[in-house]
Amino acid sequence: MFTDLSRRYSTVVRQRRTPSFRVYNDFQAIKIVRLGPWYGDKGSSSGCYSLLGLDVPESEVSVLSKSSYKLALVCPRKLVYRRERYPSSAEKDPYLDFLADGGFLVEAVARALFPDGQIIAPQEGETTAQATARLLRSENVDLFEAVFEHGGLSARVDVLSKRGGVIELIEVKAKSVNMERADGSPLRGTRGGISAEWRPYLEDVAFQVHVVRSVMGPSCTVRPKLCVVDVSKACGEAATFSALDLTPRDERAFGMPTAHYVGDVAALRQNHFLAFLDVSAEVEELLSGPDSCAAVAPSIALAILQGDRSCLKPAIGTHCRDCEYRVDGTDESGRNGFRECWGGLAAGSPHVLDLYRIDKLGGRGEGGLRGLLERGISAISDIPDRMFADGEIGQRQRRQVQATRSGRDWIGPGMGPALAAACAPFHFVDFETSRMPVPYHAGMRPYGQVAFQFSCHTVSGDGALSHREWINVDDRYPNIEFAMALRDVIGDAGTMLVWSAHERTALREIREQLLREGGGPAGLVDWLEPPTLDVEKGGRTLDLYNICRRHYVHPAMGGKTSIKAVLQAVWKGNPSLHVHPWFAAYVRGEGDSVRSPYEVLADVVTDAGIVAAVREGTGAMRAYQDMLYGRRRGDAAYKEACRRALLEYCKLDTLAMVIVWTHWMERTSGATSHVSA
Ligand code: SF4
Repeated sequence: MFTDLSRRYSTVVRQRRTPSFRVYNDFQAIKIVRLGPWYGDKGSSSGCYSLLGLDVPESEVSVLSKSSYKLALVCPRKLVYRRERYPSSAEKDPYLDFLADGGFLVEAVARALFPDGQIIAPQEGETTAQATARLLRSENVDLFEAVFEHGGLSARVDVLSKRGGVIELIEVKAKSVNMERADGSPLRGTRGGISAEWRPYLEDVAFQVHVVRSVMGPSCTVRPKLCVVDVSKACGEAATFSALDLTPRDERAFGMPTAHYVGDVAALRQNHFLAFLDVSAEVEELLSGPDSCAAVAPSIALAILQGDRSCLKPAIGTHCRDCEYRVDGTDESGRNGFRECWGGLAAGSPHVLDLYRIDKLGGRGEGGLRGLLERGISAISDIPDRMFADGEIGQRQRRQVQATRSGRDWIGPGMGPALAAACAPFHFVDFETSRMPVPYHAGMRPYGQVAFQFSCHTVSGDGALSHREWINVDDRYPNIEFAMALRDVIGDAGTMLVWSAHERTALREIREQLLREGGGPAGLVDWLEPPTLDVEKGGRTLDLYNICRRHYVHPAMGGKTSIKAVLQAVWKGNPSLHVHPWFAAYVRGEGDSVRSPYEVLADVVTDAGIVAAVREGTGAMRAYQDMLYGRRRGDAAYKEACRRALLEYCKLDTLAMVIVWTHWMERTSGATSHVSA
């Protein structure tokens, strides 16, 4: 079949077992692949009956894309592990990431501002890069998703506007900027340097400019711009979500959902929320110097093409703590990326990377993590006391090491008084919120908060536990109903216990919105004020996260203070919780093998299919977006499955607080007087 060796072939095999043969076929591997006629497809207009119609392979494997280059900037070895599909903890479904980011919505609005813009549509046997080159022969043209390839580098440009010898290269991002507050350039810090916040976006653009210039040559002038979301602009009807038509993804074509602008283009041009920032100076700065992408990217591309691991070295550092290749165990081939990178220093348990704020380790002259590794120290319990700096962080690190050595949790003397500041009934509350770049309603600003769900476990003064919850399942702006439902549930008595500032901030935003709009339902503005304030400031909210940070260390928390980390440590370490009737439904396993209640959350299986269990806040936001705006938003059974997954997750978040609080109450009072069956 493959007889003409001057041609190159690609085959996409959608089969589960192919990754075990190092033939990768997930979205990341083939997202820019071009499909050719199927073997035996006699209806093909080219008359070609096989994959001979694909004369150029178009997979990430053969070129260095912008996203791969950015990954290499974090750590070049990740490119190797990603390509070879090492075991990873990274998100399994890029579709949900894509949906939650909202970039495709912003892009749809941006494209509407270029009514003559064309999406690159390759002709038979033509690559996208060749189609781009063909279209660029026109004197004036606007293109979407133009592709440029040069020297093993590949760049895809969101919007390209060519006028004679000048190309405007526009990168569209769902990143927010407040142009009203921007004093000078929002891209630069007070000392004039490129800000760390904007650098990754500007590096994106610099990479594209480098590739486009390499292809177009010196006679062409490239002017780069960033198109971002200006949150200072209130939107007219033409710039709201209702002006977008969403097309679900086609699973068989590995596609993502697309959005098309269907509103009033003239009105949109008058009043939209996009800001076009000229980034020429920043890009020139990034393209000069020995570390620029112009200097570095070609050698990375070459290493990828040649499969040369030695050029893609591990960059060991504190960032390895959260590396997706730091996983327990190995795959069936015995591979574990973290162990390969760290060698013998991967063995410490608990590992030094799990020290609280490892990035801030180091008394004077001790050299932080690097100093530890040079001494061959990889276990937390081996860190010498002199390594800890003075101050709050150093103190917490020291306590973690002591707790690790003793195998017991540490409770500070301030814990009891801090907990006693709450009064019954105790309302353990958690909110789920979402922010969309394209506002729901006229008059709203982009990224306005949408409070779509809460859970509340209440422990009454006589020690009874009850649970109530609320969730929005309709495509509407839910904030006022959310606040009214919360008022119904927690009323005027007792303390609201939370695990972050998120709930206070969310209520403050709703209250400000009500004040702007004239007050809303009777008494709601006044009711909302006390929960926005801490107990110590005369309000009715007690933040258990702050209590944890100041007064609690458990060796199994791994230096983290999230509710999940604390719950897992407390749950495994206190068997009396497993026989408590409030928590019995979440017990799986026993002793050291008891599983975290978050792991017990099961996928929701219905006639409509399977909806994955939600296990963290970002996952909740994604599930909500999927339920209302995703591929199956019109499917009632699927929506119900999403709703159930969201409710189960949020309910556990508040029960987790009850579990930790119960443990703390036992440890501080020596009794369980606040707890009854
Ligand atoms: S563990 Fe560290 S060195 Fe290894 S791939 Fe991850 S970030 Fe790179």
